[in-house]
Amino acid sequence: MQILDGKIVSQAVKEELKQQVIKIKESGKRVPHLAAVLVGNNGASETYISSKKKNCEDIGFSSSVIRLDENIEEIELIEVIKKMNEDDSIDGILVQLPLPKQINEQKIIHLIDPSKDVDGLHPFNTGKLVQGLPTFIPATPFGIMLMLEHYNIPTSGKHAVVLGRSNIVGRPISILLSQPHQFGNCTVTVCHSKSNNIKDICLQGDIVIAAVGIPEYVKADMIKEGAVVVDVGITRITDETKKSGFSIVGDVMFETVAPKCSYITPVPGGVGLMTIAALLKNTFQAYTLRKGE
Ligand code: NAP
Repeated sequence: MQILDGKIVSQAVKEELKQQVIKIKESGKRVPHLAAVLVGNNGASETYISSKKKNCEDIGFSSSVIRLDENIEEIELIEVIKKMNEDDSIDGILVQLPLPKQINEQKIIHLIDPSKDVDGLHPFNTGKLVQGLPTFIPATPFGIMLMLEHYNIPTSGKHAVVLGRSNIVGRPISILLSQPHQFGNCTVTVCHSKSNNIKDICLQGDIVIAAVGIPEYVKADMIKEGAVVVDVGITRITDETKKSGFSIVGDVMFETVAPKCSYITPVPGGVGLMTIAALLKNTFQAYTLRKGE
């Protein structure tokens, strides 16, 4: 069993970007700029945003965070996004989800200029993804693909079982794995909350991607010997032994599943780190496309 180490792969991705930023700085040009919008004070969202900001700084990107009150009206957020769309110094726009109830998430996502949609959630970019055209791939599935590529994991002809069908993880990773490219060509089964016989389906998986958001949902008796298991799940569980007061738990029961796998991602230290690296890569791509380089 080998660990798919998000720390190693994300560092490699970030180092490559860092070198490119050094060259940009040497040529006197402005550096890529990722701008995030955070509405309210959700603890997990705060953590994600500060981590994204720190990662931008580590590689020399410019980053900014627009913080808005929990009770902001939708129209105010719309105005903020419009301004960001028009601001030439911003390459990538990230709206931290979830948004408060009074705001229609779809409406806000649809408003982001597709050329700055580094989260890859705008339907224009989703359409391109479905058609296999170059686009911004949502950061988590993109990060998983970068990981498969780094470890040169054979995918062609394999049966990939994807647990979850969300627009940010399950759906796009199932599309990517089925597409005709080196780290695609899988036969893909997508499971969700209405699926029957999930255990039997999982047992057929050469590759299992778990993105349901239920701690330790995937047990050892659901995984066949030699499978590749990618754990996307991140759930905060109260843990008084931790300074933060919580631990992060994945969708896979790591201790019992890992010995059966050829490769497995840990939580933390796996897909989460790759998600940030992929977001930075998307931001660099947006910068390059917008500057016409
Ligand atoms: P989501 O939007 O809640 O989607 C969860 C999916 O799981 C849905 O498709 C749901 O089915 C399915 N599901 C729920 N219960 C199920 C069950 N008992 N059996 C089979 N399928 C079931 O979640 P998400 O945004 O995709 O995120 C999934 C997990 O990944 C969460 O823990 C999230 O925190 C984590 N995540 C991690 C990263 C990262 O960087 N590592 C990034 C994004 C998300 P229905 O469609 O039928 O409801």
